[in-house]
Amino acid sequence: MSLVSSILNADLHCHSVVSDGTLTPEELAARAHANGVELWALTDHDEIGGQQRAMAAARSHGLPYLTGTEISITFAGQTVHIVGLGFDAEDPRMQAGLRQTRGGRGERAREMAASLAAVGIQGAYEGALKYAGNPELISRTHFARYLVEAGVCRETNEVFRKYLTEGKPGFVPHRWATLRDAVSWISDAGGLAVIAHPARYNFSPTEEYALFSEFKAHGGRGVEVVTGSHSAAEYVQYADMAREFGLAASRGSDFHSPDESHTDLGALPLLPGQLTPVWELLADRIQQ
Ligand code: AMP
Ligand code: MN
Ligand code: MN
Ligand code: MN
Repeated sequence: MSLVSSILNADLHCHSVVSDGTLTPEELAARAHANGVELWALTDHDEIGGQQRAMAAARSHGLPYLTGTEISITFAGQTVHIVGLGFDAEDPRMQAGLRQTRGGRGERAREMAASLAAVGIQGAYEGALKYAGNPELISRTHFARYLVEAGVCRETNEVFRKYLTEGKPGFVPHRWATLRDAVSWISDAGGLAVIAHPARYNFSPTEEYALFSEFKAHGGRGVEVVTGSHSAAEYVQYADMAREFGLAASRGSDFHSPDESHTDLGALPLLPGQLTPVWELLADRIQQ
């Protein structure tokens, strides 16, 4: 099948132990291949340390690969995620930008643990760190796993309803990268910037319009339409947004773990028609 067709089982969003997933890049490549994925990208949060391994593993399965990452930014007071695809993973400015974005996570984690201790949950920093395959990338997901282990909640979804989110114990506001910087790092490294799971944010229509307009003005070119985070109605809604803003459409499960993720690698509907798939714009960046 042609890699520029819109009927392609592309999965361009998932996480390994290099960020907050539970599988290695090699295990993910094997799982993607077994699930019938035809084009894959590993998109660890704020980190590209798994790219060489993912690329080599993809090649061993004959699975076409795009480099990937998911950058945390702050926009209008909220955390937003920008996926980068098809960039040069050796680009020094991209590497420095991601290193800087990861930088505040250690201190934030200590503050999260202090906030949890204030409601009687002890040892959360050490507990979360035990789950972090990459100590530079300690995230709320690792705290969520520890709170399940400690018997505070039954599953990680329950943790995010009761803890670690705005207004709840364990939440620490954080300033991430700017929209402009994240889009520039990706674009200047030859890649394509994509707004991740747009339906997940709590923006007013005006703020959402501003996000899409400014993203586009800074050189952003894609939006996730079919993702594990969207409902069927949201596929339609964001397909319309993609057309309105002249953005290409992406597709990805956001798979983190066989035990936690409800959408497996590649197990998503195809992109709706009359959209430009991001991989059509990235045809010369695909590693076969
Ligand atoms: P962080 O980058 O440390 O703020 O952690 C964010 C990560 O927490 C996301 O990438 C998800 O993996 C996870 N997460 C955030 N909100 C939820 C939620 N409501 N349910 C499950 N996982 C979540
Ligand atoms: Mn995550
Ligand atoms: Mn995300
Ligand atoms: Mn993700």
